Amino acid sequence: MLSNGNELKVLVVEDSKVTMRALCSYLERMGIHNLLTAETGQAALEMFRNDRPDIVLLDAILPDIDGFDIAKQMRALEQGQDWSAIIFLTSMSKDDDLARGIEVGGDDYLMKPISEVVLKAKVRAMRRLVEMQRALVDVTRQLNGANKELQRLSTTDGLTGIANRRLFDELLQREWRRCTRARKQLSLVMVDIDYFKQYNDNYGHQLGDVCLKAVAGQVARSALRPGDLAARYGGEEFVLVLSETDMDGAKWVANHIRQHVAELKIKHATSPAHFVTVSCGVSTVTPNDQLSMEVLLKSADHALYAAKMQGRDQVVCADYGQARADTASYI
Ligand code: GH3
Ligand code: MG
Ligand code: MG
Ligand code: MG
Repeated sequence: MLSNGNELKVLVVEDSKVTMRALCSYLERMGIHNLLTAETGQAALEMFRNDRPDIVLLDAILPDIDGFDIAKQMRALEQGQDWSAIIFLTSMSKDDDLARGIEVGGDDYLMKPISEVVLKAKVRAMRRLVEMQRALVDVTRQLNGANKELQRLSTTDGLTGIANRRLFDELLQREWRRCTRARKQLSLVMVDIDYFKQYNDNYGHQLGDVCLKAVAGQVARSALRPGDLAARYGGEEFVLVLSETDMDGAKWVANHIRQHVAELKIKHATSPAHFVTVSCGVSTVTPNDQLSMEVLLKSADHALYAAKMQGRDQVVCADYGQARADTASYI
């Protein structure tokens, strides 16, 4: 029995019926009843593929395939997953042959005629190794899962579940480089909830959080292409990266976000619209090596500010004369 509760499975590959019978009875006397037997290399590989034994007792000389070749093929089938112990059964006593067996993937060998005592000792030792390897695979699997989850958490905003600022920074840099190479336009949409301080004051922080989540959902809905990303930029501000998108396209997306938020009809008594609304600032550039990413961010921010100044609940596109003048030091 293995520590995971499964019975130890042993595959015996031996073309001599007498030796096979002896081996099976020794193993059964050890309490190992989950036995698979094969008299040829072909049959052994088939069983190995379908029934993945814990231990293989492998005759070095078989009628069809050389035992060393079989071991090599079995190792190839494992592909880094569960490992099986391979013990060669050999009457060769030359050191070179034994060394070759280990080199091709064998773990140990037994000299024929097989001694029951030595067989028992070696099977016991291999069982220990199999258990350790299974435990290691288990821990590695858990670690991989935990790492994936950590990666997800470190790039996700805890409240809204969409990407956080960190992922946004990473993706923007990547898309900036990509669009520079491809000479494509890159757009940003900055989204800010209108009169949100009043919303919190009127309805409380908890309902404020519920509102933030709902708005985040509407922003996320608009990131449709592989290079697009919706992220929480901070507080009640969101940002949308739109790769290979011109200003008209970005403006269209921004208006959809504004419309989708309005359709939520979240009551906001002290807002002129009586419902929660958002303002959006849109910026577009064709990135190049002379340009800094700051231009894109600053101009979206300016456009957003203009949308606020012009009465909120609207989309404003960047005025590049203004943005360039303000960010001259970055260019
Ligand atoms: P404007 O229309 O000009 O954008 O006005 P505003 O009130 O939305 O803007 P302001 O920047 O003055 O206020 C933003 C508010 O967002 C203040 C803050 O309490 C709230 N806020 C920021 N982060 C969170 C959060 O995680 N949860 C909640 N409930 N509120 C938040
Ligand atoms: Mg043989
Ligand atoms: Mg706001
Ligand atoms: Mg704000």
